[in-house]
Amino acid sequence: MQRRSFLQQTTSCSAYLSTLSAFGLGEMLAADVKRPVVAQTPFARLEEIAPGVWAAVSTHFESNDFTLLCNSGIIQGDDRVMVLEGTMSTKGAQWLSEQAKKLTGKAPTDLVISHFHGDHTNGHSGYPNPRTWITAATKAGAEERFATSDPVIPNFPDVETLSESEPTVVDLGNRLVTLVPRKGHTSSDVTIEISDPNVIWTGDLYFNRVFPNYGDSTPPLLNQFGETLDELNDSTIVVPGHGSVADQSDIQVYRAFLAELETAAKEAHASGEEAVAAAAQYTLPDPFAEWVIWAPDNIERAFKAWYRTLG
Ligand SMILES: [Zn+2]
Repeated sequence: MQRRSFLQQTTSCSAYLSTLSAFGLGEMLAADVKRPVVAQTPFARLEEIAPGVWAAVSTHFESNDFTLLCNSGIIQGDDRVMVLEGTMSTKGAQWLSEQAKKLTGKAPTDLVISHFHGDHTNGHSGYPNPRTWITAATKAGAEERFATSDPVIPNFPDVETLSESEPTVVDLGNRLVTLVPRKGHTSSDVTIEISDPNVIWTGDLYFNRVFPNYGDSTPPLLNQFGETLDELNDSTIVVPGHGSVADQSDIQVYRAFLAELETAAKEAHASGEEAVAAAAQYTLPDPFAEWVIWAPDNIERAFKAWYRTLG
């Protein structure tokens, strides 16, 4: 594999973003497209999951274009249209708005954001003032960063605060969307779920064949969410925060990864070795060796997160 250019970013989620210009990678991820693609740009493709339901998959690993950066989606009801995630840039949100308009005849009326990291929030003002469904922790975390961004990013204009203990059901008109509060990737995550068909957008509680971002994570809770994914109905379509749209076979591989990493971190911790040194010596075994490592300290963040938990 040919490696790799690093780009300094100012988001709290990612001190560095790297792109594998690796060959084979673009082809590997592109081979995952199993559904009709209704729009394609260098930075994303929009896949039709079902009538009125679309998943936007960021293709920055292939193109180096960080316009969207996180995965997203569009959910259409009879009365309202919901878009998912603020995305990395206003350009990304504007693109999603245009797609929503083209596909549904309506601009987005509702926005839901899974957590506070920059790639999921920074572009929110590119939407035409939707009602924004967000937890208080996500709002506070994002707006604290917005204030010190250059240029300053506007606060969320029209907020519906989500409960952090109970799911919230949003009725878009003959389409119910359930926003489920969770924890693991950050201290306040939200998954976006619909039935008929069963689809779950996981936010960054799950990455598909991309090394997870452990920076703000609590690994046992991340593992618990892995179990939740495993228990889903086999027909459930899983849209990860990053990487291709997944099914149950992908979830099995992911759970094996979580177990592998847990074992490695716990063994290192028990031996008395420092997290940084242990991470430096660690190499991912097959089949995870092929996964996208998008920052030089991905593994180090994971070991540090486990060490925080282990004490
Ligand atoms: Zn993300």
